[in-house]
Amino acid sequence: FLECHQLHKQFDGNPVLDGIDFSLDRGECLVLLGPSGCGKSTLLNIIAGLLAADQGELRCDGEVLDAPAQGFHRPMRDRRFSMVFQDFSLWPHMTVAENVAFGLRVRGAHRSRIREQVEQALARVRMSDFLDRKPEQLSGGQQQRVAIARALAVQPRLLLLDEPLSALDARLREDLKTELGALLQDSGVTSVYVTHDQSEAMTLGDRIALMKGGRIEQIGPPEQVYREPSSCFVAEFLGSSN
Ligand code: ATP
Ligand code: MG
Repeated sequence: FLECHQLHKQFDGNPVLDGIDFSLDRGECLVLLGPSGCGKSTLLNIIAGLLAADQGELRCDGEVLDAPAQGFHRPMRDRRFSMVFQDFSLWPHMTVAENVAFGLRVRGAHRSRIREQVEQALARVRMSDFLDRKPEQLSGGQQQRVAIARALAVQPRLLLLDEPLSALDARLREDLKTELGALLQDSGVTSVYVTHDQSEAMTLGDRIALMKGGRIEQIGPPEQVYREPSSCFVAEFLGSSN
């Protein structure tokens, strides 16, 4: 469904992505896991269309999204992907309902249809009682639930999440991790989930790609990567013994 072929990216002459290859099936959740600075957000931003790759090719559903050799870059708005960020990034002047409705409105959905989808999306994240609140009147966990509802409401082809739980305290992180796992499963959405937290990766990933220095060190189902780490780096990062 999503195919990355030999993606490269440099910043100021420093290679940050150094030949990224993977493919993702429809409905699958791939976790990009690795230490700070290994290139996780850069890769996610290239998939999103926020950044352009220097080399390689990116395709979704057979359609080319990025092919720098041909000078081709499909802009973010044409990709029909949704993104969830660490800092929630809700629009502060809009209510919860308006935040979730915004993407649907931009896509020209009908008024009654928008209302219905907003209510559905907020019910899924247990935020139905907060429709008219402003983001500043919500806790961090509640804000992130709204951001997730907003991302899913437009029924994206692909959901991209960059450390969505890392701004939350430990208890809340644990609760939302479980909820998010159920939500990803139920919605059937295809997703790429960036984290440096191994327990999030083990819980949420259908597969985990362990990144180091702009490369994927190992990719596979969580149990496999945990039980059969391909290097000391992977073993240490996952806390497994080899
Ligand atoms: P973290 O876990 O800290 O979020 P990350 O794995 O997401 O890290 P990236 O944000 O992808 O890492 O950054 C990878 C490298 O690229 C880092 O060394 C970073 O300093 C560098 N980098 C990222 N964005 C830029 C930029 N716009 N200009 C220059 N260098 C950048
Ligand atoms: Mg990052």
